[in-house]
Amino acid sequence: MLLTDKPTPEPVDEADRLMTICNACRYCEGFCAVFPAMERRRFFSEGDLTYLANLCHGCQGCYHVCQYAPPHEFEVNVPKAFSRLRVESYARFAWPGFLARAFESNGLVISLLSGIGLALVIGLLFGLQNPDVIFGAHTGEGSFYRVIPHEAMVWPFGIVFLLAIAAMIVGGVRYWRATAGAAQVPLSFGAILGGIWDTLTLKNLGGGGGGCTYPDEKFSYARRTYHHFTFYGFMLCFAATSVGTIYHYGFGWIAPYGYFSLPVVLGTVGGIGLLIGPAGLLALKMRVEPAPQARELMGMDVALLVLLFLVSLTGLVLLALRETSAMGTLLAIHLGFVLAFFIALPYSKMVHGVYRLLALIQDASERRAG
Ligand code: SF4
Ligand code: SF4
Repeated sequence: MLLTDKPTPEPVDEADRLMTICNACRYCEGFCAVFPAMERRRFFSEGDLTYLANLCHGCQGCYHVCQYAPPHEFEVNVPKAFSRLRVESYARFAWPGFLARAFESNGLVISLLSGIGLALVIGLLFGLQNPDVIFGAHTGEGSFYRVIPHEAMVWPFGIVFLLAIAAMIVGGVRYWRATAGAAQVPLSFGAILGGIWDTLTLKNLGGGGGGCTYPDEKFSYARRTYHHFTFYGFMLCFAATSVGTIYHYGFGWIAPYGYFSLPVVLGTVGGIGLLIGPAGLLALKMRVEPAPQARELMGMDVALLVLLFLVSLTGLVLLALRETSAMGTLLAIHLGFVLAFFIALPYSKMVHGVYRLLALIQDASERRAG
C-alpha cells in the first residue's frame, strides 16, 4: 500500500499521538507556550488537546527542527495536526450548530456570502432608489443618507452585527466549558490581564526571541508585524465606527465628517492598516512551506484576508470619492462587503481570535497556579 493511501486519523487522535511523542522528547519546550503547557500534563483529554491546539499559533518552528518530522516513520507534524484540530473545534462550538458546516469549504462560503451581500445591497439600492439620486453628487451633512436612508443602514447592519457577536460569545463559552472549565482551571484577574497582554503582543510569534520560522526556515518577525497591522487596523476601524455612533446619537452630528475629524482619522489609519496587514499575510501565505500546513484549510485563511482587504479598500475609495457622482454606487459596494463580513464573522477564521484569547488566559492561569 502507498504511504498516501493511509487513512487520515481523526484530528484529536493525531494530536494525542503527537503530544505523547513530544512529551517524551521535549526538545521544543522553549519555542512557545504549547510545550510548557503540554509538560504540565501526563495524559491528554479531548479538552486538553483542544486547548493546546488553540494555544498553537502555527509558527512552524517545531516542525522545522523536529528529528521525527516526515520522512521519519513517526511523521511528527504538530502545526498541521493542531490546525486541523483547531478548525474542528471552531465547528464543534459554533452556534447555532447547523451553521457549523460553514467551516467546511469555508473559502467558498465566504465567496458566496460576498456575492450575496453585494447583490442584496446593490439590488435593493437600484430597485428602490431613484437613479438620479444614486448617480447624483451629494455633499454636506447627511449626504450618505440621501442615497441610503439612515434607518435602512443601521437596523439591518446593527441586528446582523449583534447576532454575530452573540454567536461568537456562545461559541467562546462552549469552548471554555470544554477546555479550562472541564480542567477546573483557577481563574484570576491577573491571569485574565496576562492572557490579554499575550494576545495583544502576539508574544508567541516571537519564537525564542528571533521571530518565527514563517514562511520558511529563516527566523522573521514578518508574520507578527502583518498580523499587528491587521488586528490594530481592524480595532481602529471599529473605534472609528463607535466614535461616529457617539457623534450621531450623543451630539446629533451627522456624517459625513471632515477629513481631519476623529472618526475619519481613525478609520483612515485603520483602513490603511487593514490593507497592509492582509496583503502582507497573503503574500507570506503564498510563499509558505506547504508541509506543516493543512492545505485543505488554506481557503479559510485566504478568504478572510481577501474579504478584510476588500472591506478596507472599498471604504477608503468611498472616502476619497464621497463628493462625486460615484458615491452612491461605491457606498452600496462597500456596504455589501461589510454585510458579508458581519454574516461570516462567527463562521470564519475570525473566531480564532476568541479561542486564542481564551487559550492564552488559560495558559496564564495555569502558569500562575504552578
Ligand atoms: S516537535 Fe519533534 S522535536 Fe519538538 S518536541 Fe515534538 S517530537 Fe520533539
Ligand atoms: S507550530 Fe509554533 S506555536 Fe505551534 S506548537 Fe509548534 S512551535 Fe508552538
